[in-house]
Amino acid sequence: MDGDRRMATSAQAGLLDLSTPLDRAPDLVLRRARSLANAGYRRVGDLLYHLPFRYEDRTAFRTLDSVQPGERVTVAVQVLQCKVIRTRRRGFVIIEAMVDDGTSSLRAVWYNQAYLQRVLVPGARFCFYGLVETRRGRASERVLQNPQIERLPEDEAEPVHSGRVVPIYRKVGTLSPRLLRTVQHRLLGALRGPLDDPLPAEVRRRWRLCSRDEALRSIHFPCGPEPVELYNSRRSRAHRRLMFEELFLLQVALALRRRRMRESRREFTYRTSKIIGERLRRILPFRLTGAQRRVFREIVKDLESPYPMNRLLQGDVGSGKTIVALLTAVLAMENGLQAVLMAPTGILAEQHYERLTGLLRQWPYRIGLLTQSTRAAERRRLLEALACGEINLLLGTHALIQKPVRFHRLGLVVVDEQHRFGVAQRQALLDKGGRPDLLVMTATPIPRTLTLMLYGDLDLSVLDEQPPGRGQTETSLVSPAKRRSLYQRLRAATETGDRAYVIAPVIDESDVRGLKAARELAARLARGPLEGVALGLLHGRLQPEEKVSMMKRFADGEVKVLVATSLVEVGIDVREATVMVIENAERFGLSQLHQLRGRIGRGPRASWCALVLSEGADAGVLEKLRAFVQCKDGFEVAEADLRYRGSGELFGTRQSGAGELKLADLIRNPRLVEEAREAAFEWVESAHKEGNPLDRSVLEEVARRWPQEAMGLTEG
Ligand code: ADP
Ligand code: MG
Repeated sequence: MDGDRRMATSAQAGLLDLSTPLDRAPDLVLRRARSLANAGYRRVGDLLYHLPFRYEDRTAFRTLDSVQPGERVTVAVQVLQCKVIRTRRRGFVIIEAMVDDGTSSLRAVWYNQAYLQRVLVPGARFCFYGLVETRRGRASERVLQNPQIERLPEDEAEPVHSGRVVPIYRKVGTLSPRLLRTVQHRLLGALRGPLDDPLPAEVRRRWRLCSRDEALRSIHFPCGPEPVELYNSRRSRAHRRLMFEELFLLQVALALRRRRMRESRREFTYRTSKIIGERLRRILPFRLTGAQRRVFREIVKDLESPYPMNRLLQGDVGSGKTIVALLTAVLAMENGLQAVLMAPTGILAEQHYERLTGLLRQWPYRIGLLTQSTRAAERRRLLEALACGEINLLLGTHALIQKPVRFHRLGLVVVDEQHRFGVAQRQALLDKGGRPDLLVMTATPIPRTLTLMLYGDLDLSVLDEQPPGRGQTETSLVSPAKRRSLYQRLRAATETGDRAYVIAPVIDESDVRGLKAARELAARLARGPLEGVALGLLHGRLQPEEKVSMMKRFADGEVKVLVATSLVEVGIDVREATVMVIENAERFGLSQLHQLRGRIGRGPRASWCALVLSEGADAGVLEKLRAFVQCKDGFEVAEADLRYRGSGELFGTRQSGAGELKLADLIRNPRLVEEAREAAFEWVESAHKEGNPLDRSVLEEVARRWPQEAMGLTEG
């Protein structure tokens, strides 16, 4: 607290707000405003939310008579003398100073920092921070090696870089970590305080959070009683408060989305009578699993309510999500509504089309398919039929969200493999109807914390049961030396009627040297171990029609071994496929490996998956893949993935504005996520109940930090 007071008095108080543009900040920052803007920092607040990633305890000043070799110390000293030692190497200089603090004296050396001879003038007072070593092995002669220095202010102002717990920043633009420290100190000193707080006062009280003002000041320059370890592990009061803030604002956006769905009743009511139930059952070529039945009941309940459905269906690869979506679509169609299903790739959309037209053969519905490769004439006919309601179910890819796609009476939107799409795309499809029901599906198994953050506006259904009659899948790591026998085994499998995927990370050998490029690999296999076996090649550079026809040939068994890039990762379902070989396996993320492996083990026969390592793959990678082999289901994979990689890729496009408080930190705090969610939902709901408008400044902050999530919520 003492520090705060001093900081405030030493500054030109009361000039800046968090929203002040950096090009109107103090000189020191002003000169670097352009570089900062290029790095994405435009306002004072942007910089102040660039948080230290670590702290060093330089609080305790030591007296020189007590410091020992091997210690890292902060000392306050006076320069006795300073000399420059030139070495034989041209231009290379050593600066050597003798310093004293009244208890003892000590030598300090710096390499190649000639300017120091003008700084270290005899009589001047400094703080040094650095490592004490011995000189030429003589314990009695101590030397401070290359210490960081800070001139001790002549006036009463406190030192920034020593005598305290010191923040360490990552570089921003051209600002070094040390300069950043000075800048942050200067900015905090010049802030108009106390700062506005984006957390409502009642929330702060209820969850015992300190103010933003206190949090921001102490997260940069810790000065309270909390030990430095708490700061380094991000468990300080200040960290908790700022993480809570970030999560709260996100959850407010999600709560508002949810609220909005509740506010508008749907424009039609559903009949979901027994008769329909009977007819639905006749579509199915198999008995639903218990989980499928439970989830479908949850969906029917949503459809019977007066508010639009807003549901996430989460289920591991192969758990049978498609059929649930189909049943839902049939319900919509039976009620005279149109349904649409969007998938992330043309191949998957095509597969859905084949599958669903097959299952609905006996039914009077017209089903359309719209992808990037739909020809112009066909497309025109399709869109016309859609607009006048003749098409009952439309399947497709991103092409579905284009402007000219207009429905007659859209009642149901299904998004498959939702994690491949953004909130904006989901919304674009919803906007094509008057409050349609929404079902989004994802196979990316994610921990509950992450689900709350990603999909907190949706109700959750989980398919936690695999359909019966599936063979076991055995996974193994294979060293490159064993590749020969591996492909012999693969060959033998194809001779008994099985089909196999061989996955390579890139297309051409030239893409990344040393990787088993799909094309090269296919050629080599065809000449060597798989000579005479019907091989196919599938990669991203094929035309959409070529991709689709290759998938068909593989599904029909004309092609026995499909050499492919990770293009086959999502959704593909070929029951006869029982073998998967993944080359350069360490190149793939664990969730991706899980998705890939999910392509096999879909029929009754036993399957196997071989992860082939690259030559010289390192030990860390091996450990990660070993963990993968041990994982029993997708949730375990997701946990392992988080452990080894952090959350970045799981989140896809989502990035928080909060500088160093990256999402990884946020989701590693499950308690905090739950608390912030509760707080946000409570806040939104209670304002709604009492008929009070929500605080505008909070909403603006939501929109600034989480623009995607807040989309359409804060206008007007
Ligand atoms: P995912 O959840 O990964 O999208 P799919 O919907 O593609 O899974 O289903 C995987 C396979 O399981 C498909 O071949 C599908 O026909 C089959 N399937 C789905 N439900 C059942 C069930 N209840 N009994 C037997 N097979 C099923
Ligand atoms: Mg699927």
